[in-house]
Amino acid sequence: MTLSEFYQKYSNEEECKEKFKQIRDQVGVVCKKCGCKDHYWQQSPWQYECKECKFRTTLKSETILEGSKLPFRYWLTAMAYLTTSKKSISALQLQKELGHKRYEPIWAMLHKLRLGMRYRDSQYKLTEYVEMDEGFFEKSDSEPENQGKEGEAKYKRGRGSERQAKVLVAAESKPVEQTYKNRHKPKKTVGHIKMTVVDKLDSTSINYEVQKMISEDAEVKTDGYTGYSKLKQIIQTHDVEIIYDKREVSKVFPWVHSNQ
Ligand SMILES: [Zn+2]
Repeated sequence: MTLSEFYQKYSNEEECKEKFKQIRDQVGVVCKKCGCKDHYWQQSPWQYECKECKFRTTLKSETILEGSKLPFRYWLTAMAYLTTSKKSISALQLQKELGHKRYEPIWAMLHKLRLGMRYRDSQYKLTEYVEMDEGFFEKSDSEPENQGKEGEAKYKRGRGSERQAKVLVAAESKPVEQTYKNRHKPKKTVGHIKMTVVDKLDSTSINYEVQKMISEDAEVKTDGYTGYSKLKQIIQTHDVEIIYDKREVSKVFPWVHSNQ
């Protein structure tokens, strides 16, 4: 949904409240007292009631909105910004957008949502086709054309030197069916990407990170680097694509190329 579609659909508090209830129904409600997952919905006073012990759960409790006095419309608007717009939104912009008097509650709301999203991302494991690569960040401020742009870092492939921060990159990729119409388009689309800084790029460190990032039933493709030699212990399918010509790399790992 685009932002303008969002505004057409959820312009008032009642609609936003209904929408939030829909989301909550899908996620499910667990009774705090007895752990039961079956609830009745009480239209008045808008609460869930546990089928077992009759304990009541409000719409906001046990969610990120618990304890918040801000309207549902604020939360949904912030969520829409965080999930649909490519640019990030500042608390100040959002405060203006919502027409709220005080800055602090808007800042706190955004902060909570960002933490929540970060947690959700950290729990997500890449699946299906995953391409992996290792590289390092090189500070580009030493190059004359980049002077003034302090602290900008460029991703480069390879193992890097001792001092450089080494990173492991993993990206979900899906092959795109080739037709005459899309023959100039990339042959793959990239889904979620995960990147993590590592101290070492040996097989033990790589395996440790991989089991956090990638689902074990994924098909993982890497180059022939020895650090990947034990991936089979934790990933069911590991394909090695040995590339001798560096120019060919971008064809095998197009998502890495696009970062450069
Ligand atoms: Zn209960």
